[in-house]
Amino acid sequence: MANPDLKTASRNETATDFDVVVIGAGLAGLYMLHKLRQLGFTVQIFESGDAVGGTWHFNRYPGARCDVQSVEYSYSFSDEIQQEWEWTELFAPQVELEAYLNWVADRLDLRRDIQLSAKVESLSWDEASRTWTTETSAGHRVVSRFVAAATGSLSAPLKPDIEGLHSFDGPLLYTNRFPQDGFDFVGKRVGVIGTGSSGVQVITTIVDEVSALYVFQRSAAYLRPQINRTFKPGEFDALKADYASIRAREKASNGGVIFSGALQWHADPTKDILASTQEQRLKVIEELGWRAPFAWANLTKDLDANRLAADMYGELVRRVVEDPEIAEDLIPHYPMGCKRMIVGPGYYEAFNRKNVALVNLRKNPIKRITSAGVETEAGLVELEVLVLATGFDALTGALNRIDISGRGGVGLRDYWRDQGPISYLGVQVPGFPNFFTINGPGSPSVLVNVFLSAEQHVEWIAECLVYLREHSITTIEPTEQDAVEWMEQVRTAAVGDVKTAAGCNSWYLGANTPGKPRFFLPYSGGFPAYRQRCDEIAYSGYPGFVLR
Ligand code: NAP
Repeated sequence: MANPDLKTASRNETATDFDVVVIGAGLAGLYMLHKLRQLGFTVQIFESGDAVGGTWHFNRYPGARCDVQSVEYSYSFSDEIQQEWEWTELFAPQVELEAYLNWVADRLDLRRDIQLSAKVESLSWDEASRTWTTETSAGHRVVSRFVAAATGSLSAPLKPDIEGLHSFDGPLLYTNRFPQDGFDFVGKRVGVIGTGSSGVQVITTIVDEVSALYVFQRSAAYLRPQINRTFKPGEFDALKADYASIRAREKASNGGVIFSGALQWHADPTKDILASTQEQRLKVIEELGWRAPFAWANLTKDLDANRLAADMYGELVRRVVEDPEIAEDLIPHYPMGCKRMIVGPGYYEAFNRKNVALVNLRKNPIKRITSAGVETEAGLVELEVLVLATGFDALTGALNRIDISGRGGVGLRDYWRDQGPISYLGVQVPGFPNFFTINGPGSPSVLVNVFLSAEQHVEWIAECLVYLREHSITTIEPTEQDAVEWMEQVRTAAVGDVKTAAGCNSWYLGANTPGKPRFFLPYSGGFPAYRQRCDEIAYSGYPGFVLR
């Protein structure tokens, strides 16, 4: 419910309207609000969308579904919440995830402190009063001591720079801003640009409905065609009864997950692919099917091993796709695991259908989009609907799209442009006192079950604010030296991993965003090591931060 006094809240120079402004009412922002409220802080969330849910509100395209198993992709902070909510499928669909986050918002009575349809446009630090002023698209102007950006790692949509994009006559649908009421694809000639997780999910979902489907592929994708299913009777109850153990094992794992999905391959550490023969590898394909390429040790660190596993992957694609030329076009030629793994069945089978065509943009690049469709070097593909599944400016994009001005009026995007994406632990940036980022660049964020990584940041930030309150400290900010050293650790942790190999161009590296410097943004040293480091810093009185 909107607070009518908010826009005009009276204050003098040092008074604040709230202790903390939180940006975003996705899964991180909701928990931040709850946690801080429990600790006696006054909090206001500003959310750009017209509903809570963040990613799971905006990405409502056909087939949108999580790539981490539902029993893991949920809040762990409250056993009551864990026990009360029922997931129905192994991998939850968008509609269920959005319903879950709305249910949590009601269950914890969060809505009274959330302003919807209020996009934060600017944040400015005032050194004299040691406060932040937040301005929103809805006209709010509020002052707070702290700001926590729960803006999401994959929330700033990328619009492809293609000539004539908006001259297309038919509907132009972005997966990450899909119409609230859905879209009827039945009987239509549809083009999909993008073959990442979103594109693949759309393609496999609408393929039965459309009259013709043109898949515009710039880079072929790696998939784990894992089968989703509903829980069998009693199965989810058994998992719920085991939650304490599941969460403990998740928190001890590098990716915060124990069940197979995008972040968990379940490789056999004793299986050395470099010591295997072609005959043995073919036998493993017979035994394990699509799990076969992922079953070996050292695939993320040893490029030779990775190449052999990628060959097995190619063999599997050739076995499914009937047209040999299409099969070759669908086989990726970069290291397996360089990009986030895509989870879901039915993708390769779609290319055996008569109504599906693959347009390989490496062979025939897009020249322009016209009113009638997509024109490539090979000619015009006439379309009635165009779906853009072209991804996000990851990790820094959402923050860079806000006008954030720190000490001395320095802009965050200018600072990052000049110095690189510097952040201490992924929670604070030098020169931006009292400004916290949840799952910011330099933290494990997208390499971890995002509920767990968000919870860890929320709890760390909340404890920090309590510490400041108890010690009558008004500002906290990292030193530039400590932040730079931390980012060097972030860089070195990723050295030798396939994710940073030559020829690997992913959103983790910013390689999908024109003009973005190539830097592996998430911390890849593992969730337990990261959490331990954060805890040690908190227990030791926040070394690396200046407290005033
Ligand atoms: P993405 O992985 O970045 O994929 C974007 C696709 O669009 C890529 O195939 C990219 O090609 C292509 N593309 C971008 N610009 C293009 C252009 N100008 N012309 C032609 N092709 C272009 O984005 P996403 O699919 O939205 O997924 C992003 C991340 O969100 C995922 O990795 C995942 O972490 C998360 N996600 C998860 C789920 C799930 O839980 N199942 C679902 C959706 C998204 P290039 O590869 O050549 O750049």
